[in-house]
Order: sequence, then C-alpha cells, then structure tokens
Amino acid sequence: MMTRIAFIGLGNMGGPMAANLARAGYDARGFDPLAAVRDSAEEAGVKVAASAREAMAGADVVITMLPAGAHVLSVWSDLLPHEVSKGRPSQGTDDATEGALFIDCSTIDIDSARRAHDMARVAGARSVDAPVSGGVTGAKAGTLTFMCGGDAAAFAAAKPILEAMGKTVLYCGGPGLGQAAKICNNMMLGVAMIVTSEAFVLAEKLGLSHQALFDVASVSSGQSWSLTSYCPAAGLTPASPANNGYKPGFMAALMLKDLRLAQEAAAGVGASTPLGAMAAQLYALYVASGEGGSDFSGVIEMIRGKLRN
Ligand code: NAD
Repeated sequence: MMTRIAFIGLGNMGGPMAANLARAGYDARGFDPLAAVRDSAEEAGVKVAASAREAMAGADVVITMLPAGAHVLSVWSDLLPHEVSKGRPSQGTDDATEGALFIDCSTIDIDSARRAHDMARVAGARSVDAPVSGGVTGAKAGTLTFMCGGDAAAFAAAKPILEAMGKTVLYCGGPGLGQAAKICNNMMLGVAMIVTSEAFVLAEKLGLSHQALFDVASVSSGQSWSLTSYCPAAGLTPASPANNGYKPGFMAALMLKDLRLAQEAAAGVGASTPLGAMAAQLYALYVASGEGGSDFSGVIEMIRGKLRN
C-alpha cells in the first residue's frame, strides 16, 4: 500500500520538499496556514488540504517543516492523540512498528525536540528529528542532507522517505541528536565564514589579491567550505552569493537563529563555546543593521565597514 504522508509547513523549504515526495510517488498531502504558500505548493504539484487534520486523515507518516520549537510542539500535540486513538485501538501495545511515524525536519531547540519525541512515545507513535542542511536550493533539487535523531527502528522507517528529498541521510543517535549535529555544524560554519571574511579583508589592506589568497589557502591549511565552495569575496567560486550582491543562499537571520540555538544548548550543558558566542554576536549586529535577509556570507561587508544602511 502506498505510504500516505501529511506534510505540515509548506514554506521555502517545506514546499519543494513536499513536491519531491509527490514526484517520488508518495501520496503526500500538505497544509500551511498561509493561502499564498498553499497555492504555490499546489502549483509545484503538492496536494493541499484545508487543515492539518485534513492532511492527516489516513496518513501513516507526518512530516513537519516549521519555524521553531513551539510550532512543532503545537502541531504534534494536535495531531498525535487523534492519529493514535484512530489508528491503534486498545488491542495490545507491542505493535510499535505499526504506529504512525512523526518526522520533524525543522531546525529547533534540542529541549523542544526531546519533548516532541516524548509526546510521540507516550502516544505510541515513532519519531525522528531530522533537520537539514542544503537550503532552498537543496530542497528544490532533492539534494538535502538529513541529520537524524531517534531510536534506530524509527530512523530505519524514516530513511527511505527522507531519501526521496535528499542525497545524504545520516543517523546521529538518540532523540534530539539530529538537532545537536545541525547546530554544531552551523556553529562551525558561522565561525569559519567570519574568519574567512576577516582574512580577505586583512589581505585587501595588506595589498594581497583575493585570487592570490584563494590560490594559497584553498590548497593549504586555511581551507574550508566557506572558502572553496562559498567564498565571501566575489569572483572566486561559482556558487557564491558574493557574485550576486549577497542575495541568499542562506539568510543571515537563519544563521543567527542557529547560532543562538547553539548558545542555548551550550549554556544548558555547561559547554564553553567562546567563538560560537562571538559569531552569534557578530551575526546579531549584521542582522540588526537590516541585513537579515542577505546571505550570511555578506557579513564580509560589515567587516569591511561597508554596510548599506
Ligand atoms: P518558512 O517561514 O518559509 O516556512 C515555514 C512555514 O511554516 C510557513 O509557511 C508558515 O506559514 C508555516 N507554519 C507556521 N506555523 C504553522 C502551523 N501551526 N501549521 C502549519 N504550518 C505552519 O521557513 P523555511 O525557510 O521553510 O524554514 C523552515 C525550517 O527549516 C526552519 O526551522 C528553518 O530554520 C529550517 N531551515 C531553513 C533553511 C533555509 O535555507 N530556508 C535551511 C535549513 C533549515
């Protein structure tokens, strides 16, 4: 029988992800409270429902792609008890593999992710936190990377579904550890982008050309993804938003969100992350200057002292 999927949150990421599920032959039905968002998802080939509950009718799998933890907890608590009472009448409790599968692909705080897992477990459903990297381009192309947390059986059930939306699906461990991997990765990325930007601005002041710095660092120990795939200086790597006025790409406001989630998580476990804290502060300044909608690599402009506003 064809897996029926309810996809809740059809925004910049969720819309194209749901479209890829439909393209892969899943019976996916989506919902988003914004009519304009529903319309564009429908144009992209997603069957759209009038409410989350309607999208959920008869579904075996629920995927959420929402702004923050509060939205995920609210949608899961709305959908979980109904699904469970409908799909699993009171005849034994040992058929967990037949329980509905809840997958959250949003980037949210680890505490909320773990609460969502707890809610699912209590309701008899299986659950996976599966945040992504790859941005809107990856969502459209179906090349996202998924980092997954939850029990191994739930992950095994989620994997083929996630493979219809991404290229790489990785298991990171128990509940919440997909979110942990995501914020650790993005903390490295935020710090690397800032220091790469600082190096290019320092080179400018020293009279060293961008090309010369790139040629040296890209084959030396300063090498990073921020340098060789997404260089903040224009004209050096083809996919750089720097070549396009820092149009995103990955918005600075989302980088700030992830860096703040990393700081919150670090404070919760007493980890010392001074460079992550500094990166969060620098991105807060960049966003406060009105650049939240620019690509995060545009932070080089602030380091140059050349903000637009
Ligand atoms: P978005 O704002 O475009 O989409 C979120 C959608 O959720 C909106 O359309 C909104 O109407 C909908 N929504 C809000 N409350 C809802 C509810 N109760 N029920 C149903 N829908 C609801 O955001 P996005 O860029 O698609 O990002 C989604 C998630 O993915 C975020 O957690 C973000 O951090 C993460 N993410 C985004 C990117 C990116 O490049 N955009 C990259 C990686 C991860």
